[in-house]
Amino acid sequence: MDARQRMEQLVEQLNHYSYHYYTLDQPLISDKEYDALYDELTALEAETGVTLPDSPTIRVGGELLEGFKPHRHLAPLWSLDKAQNEEQLLNWNGRVQRLIADYNSKNPDHPLPDPTYVVELKFDGLTLNLTYSDGKLVQASTRGNGAVGEGILAQVKTIKSVPLTIPYREGTIEVQGEGIMNLSVLSKYNETAAEPLKNARNAAAGALRNLNPKTTAERKLSAFFYNVGYSDNIQFADHREMMDFLKENRFKVNPYITYHNDFAQVMEELHQIVERRSTLDYLIDGAVIKITDMRIREALGYTDKFPRWAVAFKFEAEETTTILESVSWNV
Ligand code: NAD
Repeated sequence: MDARQRMEQLVEQLNHYSYHYYTLDQPLISDKEYDALYDELTALEAETGVTLPDSPTIRVGGELLEGFKPHRHLAPLWSLDKAQNEEQLLNWNGRVQRLIADYNSKNPDHPLPDPTYVVELKFDGLTLNLTYSDGKLVQASTRGNGAVGEGILAQVKTIKSVPLTIPYREGTIEVQGEGIMNLSVLSKYNETAAEPLKNARNAAAGALRNLNPKTTAERKLSAFFYNVGYSDNIQFADHREMMDFLKENRFKVNPYITYHNDFAQVMEELHQIVERRSTLDYLIDGAVIKITDMRIREALGYTDKFPRWAVAFKFEAEETTTILESVSWNV
């Protein structure tokens, strides 16, 4: 089989697995297996210089479920670039440094500052995009294909920690977070459930994309918010200001957010997160490293699929946590 034929085969397989994962919330294979096929496709695309038009490497998410009213996001929702080891993380940071240097050589009168970093947990649930108009929650949607998601306002309203009104009333904003099911809630639910749920990620995603909001309510979901993706009136200088805004407006923000001036500290924090993971009452599948400063984010911009100013450090699947922790990775 030549490279082109293998690429066609991989695209078809990956799109089939994505449909089961994103659209049906019933994955057929583990994330690790999916990621291995995805990485093989990325390598072949780099080697041949060809990207097939329906390749998952240039698309965000999956198809929309019928029955939900589509919502066009006011600003696109993105996927995340990913790194699985120290070398890939350092490569990402090297690229960031090069892009900043390039920008500064073209804009000597208005150079960008040195980058600083924020590290957050990468929650494993379903992306939520909430729309507030003049302080009132008017829409909630899934990420969908990044441009259009499924409207799930009634379902999201069952999450008790989601504010229905916020103090900020100056126009429209869209706020992103992750809908999750706490692990303690999942165990309790399974004690009496006729059909026990296998996994907190699919339990949360399946409940939010259920046409009956009563089913969503029974799952007692929660959510963490981490981004203001659109606002017609407000601009933030950096991530800290944005997170303060979210807290002031009563959104649930995760307590584990750390800010770092250099990349060695980022690596150290990733170690801490690997150790902390088993103590958390929710699933995480990694950590997300983002550039703090908004001017740098704007200058770095986006590829077709993800921002250049952020990267996800992906852990092994939950089942292999203990193995991962004992062999660990070399940072
Ligand atoms: P992603 O899940 O790797 O990253 C983007 C998402 O991260 C965002 O949409 C957001 O919801 C989430 N996120 C959580 N915490 C965040 C934070 N603090 N800041 C920003 N975003 C945060 O991207 P993706 O493209 O949705 O998914 C790719 C992954 O999905 C693959 O690596 C694979 O593991 C998995 N997948 C699995 C299968 C399967 O069959 N098992 C199929 C398709 C995809």
